[in-house]
Amino acid sequence: MSSHVYLNGEFIPETEAKISVFDRGFLFADSLYELIPFYDGVGFRLEEHLQRLHQGLKAARIQCDEDIAALCQQLLEINGGGHQAVYIQITRGVDERRRHRINPGLKPTVFLLSYPIKPALIGDLSHYEGISAITCEDIRWRRCDIKSNALLANILAVQEALDQGAQEALFVRDGHLLEGASSNLFMVRNGKLYTSPSDEQILGGTTRSVILELARLLGLALTIQELPEHWLSEADELWITGSTRGVVPVVKVNDQTIGDGHPGPIWLRMATAFRQFQQQLLQK
Ligand code: PLP
Repeated sequence: MSSHVYLNGEFIPETEAKISVFDRGFLFADSLYELIPFYDGVGFRLEEHLQRLHQGLKAARIQCDEDIAALCQQLLEINGGGHQAVYIQITRGVDERRRHRINPGLKPTVFLLSYPIKPALIGDLSHYEGISAITCEDIRWRRCDIKSNALLANILAVQEALDQGAQEALFVRDGHLLEGASSNLFMVRNGKLYTSPSDEQILGGTTRSVILELARLLGLALTIQELPEHWLSEADELWITGSTRGVVPVVKVNDQTIGDGHPGPIWLRMATAFRQFQQQLLQK
């Protein structure tokens, strides 16, 4: 059975969904998105995802009055429930012709799709192998806190990583490691945990904020500051975080082995705590 999607007021089979070529999301990437994991209908950090979406819409001057949480629930039900991620995209809408300036009369295009996922970090954590990453110059715009669909720089970066046999690209700007192409970044160095500040240079991840809460609960020494790229050679552990991945150890960056080349003990503590946190949410 083909999945259903939501498009502008209707739940329809995905094969029947059509978008105008004059949609500004298509023409200009004048559009924002969110990706929310739902486990048996419970949204993981749902409020935070919705808040980020609404802040982004406000910054982009897109007015959308739809009840996104309710639409997510309806779509999940139509598509069979269970564990699913819901992708939400809101564009400025369809204009009469291609022009840059904002036509205030436009009605936003609201699109949702969902697909099955597995909870992050399943299986025996002590057998996790970790991933490798590359570094690359951050050529993105300067409002990375807005979850814009203009992802060409991220796409090229992650493809470069894949071409080099790695799984993620880490953006470097002015000598500092910021975040991954679709993840936030944490480093363990001399027993302390570090992550970049959540400002306009990165997307303030919902998983990042879970990790910050858990770090405090675990009593880890935590510093939020910019991460000099040269710290990679001194890092004991490196992790990336994201909604559907959880917290993933990075054991190699370019040709540099991180720590002893295996997921570290602090990652193991964090991943265990993260999994418990997720399970508690599922039991509510
Ligand atoms: N940073 C970027 C650039 C991303 O695209 C993402 C997720 O898509 C993240 C960070 C992690 O955000 P979250 O933890 O909310 O998934």
